[in-house]
Amino acid sequence: MAKEQLRLLPPIHELLDRVSDMLREEHVSELRAKEWFTEELAQLREDLLQTTTYHTYDRKKFTDLLLARFNEQIGKLNAYNLQSVINATGTVLHTNLGRARLSKKAADHVYEIATSYSNLEYDLEAGKRGSRLAVIEELLAKASGAEAAIVVNNNAAAVYFVLSAFAKNQEVLVSRGELVEIGGSFRVSSIMEESGAQLKEVGTTNKTHLHDYLDNRSDQTAMIMKVHTSNFAVVGFTKSVSSGEIKTALLDEGDTDTLVFDDLGSGSLHPFIHEGIGDEPLISTALKSGCDLVSFSGDKLLGGPQAGIIAGRADLIQKLKKHQLARVLRVDKMTLAALEATLTDYVYGNSEAIPTVSDIRRDKDDIMSECSTFVSSLSLSSVQLEQVEDLSKVGGGTMPLVELPTAGLVVKHPLLSASRLETYFRSFETPIIGRIRSDMYFLDFRTLTADDQKVVKRALTALDNEFL
Ligand SMILES: *Cc1c(COP(=O)(O)O)cnc(C)c1O
Repeated sequence: MAKEQLRLLPPIHELLDRVSDMLREEHVSELRAKEWFTEELAQLREDLLQTTTYHTYDRKKFTDLLLARFNEQIGKLNAYNLQSVINATGTVLHTNLGRARLSKKAADHVYEIATSYSNLEYDLEAGKRGSRLAVIEELLAKASGAEAAIVVNNNAAAVYFVLSAFAKNQEVLVSRGELVEIGGSFRVSSIMEESGAQLKEVGTTNKTHLHDYLDNRSDQTAMIMKVHTSNFAVVGFTKSVSSGEIKTALLDEGDTDTLVFDDLGSGSLHPFIHEGIGDEPLISTALKSGCDLVSFSGDKLLGGPQAGIIAGRADLIQKLKKHQLARVLRVDKMTLAALEATLTDYVYGNSEAIPTVSDIRRDKDDIMSECSTFVSSLSLSSVQLEQVEDLSKVGGGTMPLVELPTAGLVVKHPLLSASRLETYFRSFETPIIGRIRSDMYFLDFRTLTADDQKVVKRALTALDNEFL
């Protein structure tokens, strides 16, 4: 009986015909739908052979069943895996959530450049081939005083590039206190090994003096590298030397050969350090202090796209530009467009327009008053909201000790635990990622835009209705 029923299953082309209008409206490809029906029919065949669930079904009923299931699933078929989520953790540079979010202006510039031809490598004045980096270099020069710069895929690539180009088969001195690992995937010692440079550790974990660097040089020493210990802090009995001090001491001794490279990690173009937020060095300060090269990420404190920027002495940057690896590590036009728009905001005194900068600088009282407005615009019966003060983090491995006073809402429900609430919000149509704070579910408003708040409002209302 069951075997004969298999013949009652509708053929795929018939099903595809029936849903063709829907596919067009929902922007789902026919191939994707075909794949879905194929899987579904295979499952149904198996069920027919093993169960009696469908023994009363005829051709029409099978067709209706498949179409109804398809109707339910179509929303998922056009959904991308990569989707936007709402960051209610308060951590501004959340590495798992994509680090910096771009300004609308930067995103618009990316959109325009990505969907049209551009002068990426074309000099419009001369009518011939041009440089894809010229604009970025000009902006970086204005924003940080850098003589020259090159952009690569990310800061890990930048470090690898500098080491490969200038220290392959030679020694690089690094303080023991700076042999950091970042996010489990960037370990200075491993990158160095990969690049062919030989690591020579100097000093101790908590103290490295100028003489530790100077006395450990040999004929083999190509470079002294400083690594900003972005994601941890050695507190207490410590001593380190800045790249500027090292460079000055080298020059005093007439050593012009040993290069000084400072991996700033994040670096900053906005003077957070002068506003009492953290001690992340300004890129311009690091460059002015005299070190030969610095590198930093595009999507940490800078608030731009994922990128690694190497800036400093023009003759060294020129060597990098001519190196084979420049081509291997080069970034695409979308990255350059996002970076150009972001840097433009710094250059023209508009850094507040960069979401990363404004989110970090947001004042607790402003956040609290936003919470109050939000709460008073809602009327809930079972869900309870409690306005509380808390501390948020910068994240992205930067400013590990900095705590930003913030405000947000503790969400409570008589039937649901904090972890059930966490799951509920995470599974919402636009996933909302909050955090659990002493066994309570907490939404930090620092990182919520006005649009995000509308979604959170819908989620809270739906939650309230669901368990009435
Ligand atoms: C974050 C960081 C890196 C890696 O930068 P990515 O842009 O994530 O590749 C390298 N060095 C330091 C000191 C960092 O903080």
